[in-house]
Amino acid sequence: MKYVIGNWKSNQNLTESLIWLDGLQSIKPHFSPDASVILCLPFTDIAGFNHKLSDLEMPIVTGAQNVSHLAPGKHTGEITANMLAELVSFCIVGHSERRREFAETSEMVAEKARQLLENSITPIVCLDLPYLDEQIKELFQKNVDVSRCYFVYEPISAIGTGHPQDPVEANHVANQISFLIDNQAPILYGGSVTAENVKSFVDQNRIDGVLVGADSLEPTLFAGIINSLS
Ligand code: PEP
Repeated sequence: MKYVIGNWKSNQNLTESLIWLDGLQSIKPHFSPDASVILCLPFTDIAGFNHKLSDLEMPIVTGAQNVSHLAPGKHTGEITANMLAELVSFCIVGHSERRREFAETSEMVAEKARQLLENSITPIVCLDLPYLDEQIKELFQKNVDVSRCYFVYEPISAIGTGHPQDPVEANHVANQISFLIDNQAPILYGGSVTAENVKSFVDQNRIDGVLVGADSLEPTLFAGIINSLS
């Protein structure tokens, strides 16, 4: 199975997200049974987007982009895994933007993954070389079942720059991650993926799919990536 995961980040309100869905529907991408398409949305879009997705019967699964590391309780404004469980099957944790802008630590990310798994949501754990070992160690320390997670190697130099990493080098790091988690989970690559370069990544022996930021925002570009995998 191959995976395409879109990450909209803090873009698109609910109205815009529904227009995006109409746009994708009119393009009619070819959804291959061998490729799973997951779209990670802003919290505020998820419920309405899910509703329209089921009306259109489009084979896309939704995810969130963040979750609280805390259990339900007195934490004003936090969105817990228990709340997300009614809405999504996946959730990104540990994106480098959250580490940089919100001082998220590997320990917090591991706690988020634990909260998600307790609520039957698959964590999509983002990794880069400077904290790769530390992050995986934290997951084991918090007894996170890594076989129930997805992992994404996202070199910061490639995120949003238009300069993807060399696919062979990315595969090398994917193998490193695979070794550390005992080869138990899907490993994806993220960073400036486009319809033109996606095949060069998923054709690598240890890269199971891609995480796509900028090119998931335009239905035509995202459809191009989906079609490249079919
Ligand atoms: C990302 O931020 O997760 C990402 C992969 O972004 P982009 O595709 O825009 O490089």
